Amino acid sequence: MRLRSGLVCLTLCLCCFVFVAISFPGSATLSGSAESAAPDSPLGTLIASAASPQEPTDQRSAIAYTQRFVQVKQQGTFQVSHEYRVPEELRSLRVRLPPAATVTDKSGFSHAGNGTYEWTGARTAVSLTYRMPANRSHDDGDLRVASGEYAYVDAGEWAIVEQPRPDHHWTWDDQPVGLERSVRVAGEGAAGQRMVYFGPYREYTRKAHGQQFRLIVPEATALSVDRGALLDSLAAASDTLRVGDRDDEVFVVAAPTEGVEWQLRGLQRGPADFWVQADEPLATPENVWLHEYVHTRQGYRLAPDLEWTREGTAVYYAALLSLEQGLVSGDAIRARLDSCADGEFGASTLSSPDTWAPGADYCLGALVASDLDRRLRLASDGERSLQTVLRRLNAREQPAAAATFVALLGSVGDGSVAAAGSLYTMTTERPSPSPSPFRGPGS
Ligand SMILES: [Zn+2]
Repeated sequence: MRLRSGLVCLTLCLCCFVFVAISFPGSATLSGSAESAAPDSPLGTLIASAASPQEPTDQRSAIAYTQRFVQVKQQGTFQVSHEYRVPEELRSLRVRLPPAATVTDKSGFSHAGNGTYEWTGARTAVSLTYRMPANRSHDDGDLRVASGEYAYVDAGEWAIVEQPRPDHHWTWDDQPVGLERSVRVAGEGAAGQRMVYFGPYREYTRKAHGQQFRLIVPEATALSVDRGALLDSLAAASDTLRVGDRDDEVFVVAAPTEGVEWQLRGLQRGPADFWVQADEPLATPENVWLHEYVHTRQGYRLAPDLEWTREGTAVYYAALLSLEQGLVSGDAIRARLDSCADGEFGASTLSSPDTWAPGADYCLGALVASDLDRRLRLASDGERSLQTVLRRLNAREQPAAAATFVALLGSVGDGSVAAAGSLYTMTTERPSPSPSPFRGPGS
């Protein structure tokens, strides 16, 4: 994510979600759950994502759950309906809605208190309908009630909102039952897996390297960059970044800027949804379009002492990819990174978020990422790079900590790279500005 006014704030893409189908034959545990943030369920198997309307793959053994989004006349809110088709094997189903939800209708559910609704056993017309506040601001990694500048907003003619993620818990008889979600937008609009755009728009798509890019351009705005060039850039990045976690679909909204005070220059949420202010350029080391795309390729989970890599590598690769695509000069990037070695971040230690000056993970993180990338290339005669480290992080099932990262620097590079990694991430020592940080072997 990029704050509107500079290099600040935490990404929210840690909250990438999966919907799980619990399926473990022979287990005596006849229950399942899909919670609002369940990226690490050891029992879950991804059986459905919700990138586009879809039919359930096996309605005999799954709760088919359609989340339908509706823009309503009352500005600042939107409506969500859940429509369920329940299989014979289902024994119970409990849904806990987000605290901000206001239920307006229900069928086949009874209210169990505390925002929780229990299925009555009805086999048809099982649904919940509620309203959610649309306007949200970002604060310390959380989205909260709007405070004048927005991360999500309902502008009346159009809106960009976050999809609510209710918790589901259920039990079954005999055959295990999963949960499959699909999403729909009533009227004009489009939905990814975590974001919804309401309003008139044009959609442009591009397929590249196993990914489908959906670019949503609202009628209320015009891109300041050439549309084809933007899709070319994203497609090229899709190929160049070989770090794994390549989502099938990337949902991109060009956010209108007229009449809205955005808090951020861009926001990435879920596996691969993001919006970027429509007037953001491509030809800049900060390239917010590529920055947010890089976030979609960060599927790993991080301990707090490695959290700096989230923004640091997004800033670094946005700049590096822009250079490789001929959008910016190496001098421009060097100037940007060199500015991060100055006193502004003098007391910041990357592995200790409590010590960060505002933006340290972005700016200082990018400087260190650049240095470590160069060292890894040199140590491996260009065979490996920081991408190799990120790919190994993405392949991990457990969260990665600072020690993990240093160990990877040693195995991908050598002991000297690991030592540099320790020094520059766990102390206030800084790498020396390199005369050519982007032109090591293999770059
Ligand atoms: Zn970011």
